[in-house]
Amino acid sequence: TQELLLNSEKLSVAGQLAAGIAHEVRNPLTAIKGFLQLMQSELNTHTTYFDIIESEMNRIELILTELLVLSKPQDLKFEMKDIAVIIEHVKALIDTNAIMKNIVINTYYECENLMIRCDENQLKQVFINLLKNSIEAMPDGGKITIEVINHGKDKVKILFKDTGSGIPKELLKKIGQPFFTTKENGTGLGIMVSKQIIENHHGTMHIWSDPHGTIIEIILPVK
Ligand code: ADP
Ligand code: MG
Repeated sequence: TQELLLNSEKLSVAGQLAAGIAHEVRNPLTAIKGFLQLMQSELNTHTTYFDIIESEMNRIELILTELLVLSKPQDLKFEMKDIAVIIEHVKALIDTNAIMKNIVINTYYECENLMIRCDENQLKQVFINLLKNSIEAMPDGGKITIEVINHGKDKVKILFKDTGSGIPKELLKKIGQPFFTTKENGTGLGIMVSKQIIENHHGTMHIWSDPHGTIIEIILPVK
């Protein structure tokens, strides 16, 4: 366990570093983008160059946005929150998009009023990341089930199950490594950032997958 602890501390330093860099890079990037837009409207030439620059800048912004979710520890706001309320809020956020893609999201709670000490926005970000991945893994529709189950006396297990394409066994160990993606426009940061947030909440996150779907298991302490 000592080794595990050390490992997660290291991870958290890397996360802080990533968040710090993202904060620092965003301001100059915004300035450059603004001036490029001005130049483009004045010059009106080399449109394709500007298009390429713009789409690459947008990609950098997307990566920074994903990394910025890793707040500095001093910015974290831990409060007692009802986990079901958080999950239902995220479900409502994603539902329209899911329905359009023929995806049904079901939720199941083993018990009511389960309070956990958490930074609500961060947890929401984790759940959004996981639901997005599930949706992206089901281009022809399917089912997502979120289950909240008691786990021992003082923990809760949250399962995100989908009926998507799954993750090939040989890729499974790479999932969660920074920038590892199988998607054309993926950043490969969603799982890494989510795992980091869960660890900041003294929890764990694991992935199971086969060709019939994927299960993400999150275990968090309950107060
Ligand atoms: P991204 O979504 O930008 O690719 P993530 O870190 O969120 O980055 O996910 C990394 C990779 O893990 C994805 O590219 C995909 O191959 C795989 N993955 C994650 N979640 C799922 C899922 N629910 N079903 C199938 N594959 C998944
Ligand atoms: Mg993702």
